[in-house]
Amino acid sequence: MCNVIEQKKDIKSLTLSMLKEELAAMGQKSFRAGQMYDWMHKKLARSFEEMTNLPKTLRDACEEKYHYTALEAVRVQESKIDGTKKFLFMLSDGNVVESVWMKYRHGNSVCISSQVGCRMGCKFCASTLDGLERNLLPSEMLDQVYAITRLTGERVSNVVVMGTGEPLDNYDNLLRFIKLLTDENGLNISQRNVTVSTCGIVPQIEKLAEENLQITLALSLHAPTDEKRQKLMPIANQYSIARLMESCQHYFERTGRRITLEYSLVGGVNDTKEDAEQLIRLAKPLCCHINLIPVNPVREREFVSPEPGRIHDFQNMLEKNKINGTIRREMGRDIDGACGQLRRRHRLELRDFGGNETC
Ligand code: SAH
Repeated sequence: MCNVIEQKKDIKSLTLSMLKEELAAMGQKSFRAGQMYDWMHKKLARSFEEMTNLPKTLRDACEEKYHYTALEAVRVQESKIDGTKKFLFMLSDGNVVESVWMKYRHGNSVCISSQVGCRMGCKFCASTLDGLERNLLPSEMLDQVYAITRLTGERVSNVVVMGTGEPLDNYDNLLRFIKLLTDENGLNISQRNVTVSTCGIVPQIEKLAEENLQITLALSLHAPTDEKRQKLMPIANQYSIARLMESCQHYFERTGRRITLEYSLVGGVNDTKEDAEQLIRLAKPLCCHINLIPVNPVREREFVSPEPGRIHDFQNMLEKNKINGTIRREMGRDIDGACGQLRRRHRLELRDFGGNETC
């Protein structure tokens, strides 16, 4: 693990009131903090140098004292099918993360990563194949949205934390990220337009329910029984589906926000009529929406997507039981669409060419 970035205080992860305190300690008037915050979170400056209405002496002092994160785009892939863009960004310690930009009728959506790698070990997921490298800082999560806004020149209206990593395994940084992203002095994205997807860490779901947030929680369920879920997701050995459903019900009651259940359909594994019936029994008491995601084949794994007819039958069963189920459009399937695939390909290529991506 690389600790280069932890030596100096990370200025972009500070709230406005924290920044005011910092600059006051440097003998600065409080309006300077407002100006600097505006440069970081509204004008999306990539360095202190860009902050041209601040005195050069202050910029130099900050340069000396703080760490200023800024991502470098090392690869951009654009889907010929739907215009989805996938970005591979390099962090200041040489690690890479991927983010996806999707254009929908209702606005632009960005899917961000919350960790470098992941330690949750879900069997169908490419992000977890090499384990967890490190948590992302709040600023590094923001930077993915900021860099994409700059590169596309378009406003981002929705942010989904569904890229590489388990956001609730990086809880404090995630919370600060949400606070800054939805701050009226920053990009001011509505909390209702932020979705956090989790594999189901029960105590963290319960904690999140008490944070007084209006974000959407998406739960990666993927199987309707403990036995089947345990075969796909190691976290299922820790928390039963019954406990998970209880925590989701609690989240709904505390926040009034409807939960989204995510269900990746894997041919011959969780796509039978019986699976649908069991899923219906779980979903009925919970005020939820179900996203059906045909599994995206990952090179290292043998899982396959069910036949299209079977996917529609599954959805029809949900609908007949008045459960809202959408088949998630597979965005950017031609560009390593599945979680963690682009990053993994990049790492393998570096390895094959003898490069060393981490420091
Ligand atoms: N750790 C979080 C968020 C990251 S993954 C979580 O588990 O929810 C985002 C979603 O993509 C999850 O529902 C995950 O299970 C799913 N996913 C990962 N790899 C996939 C694949 N190959 N095909 C379909 N869905 C996949």
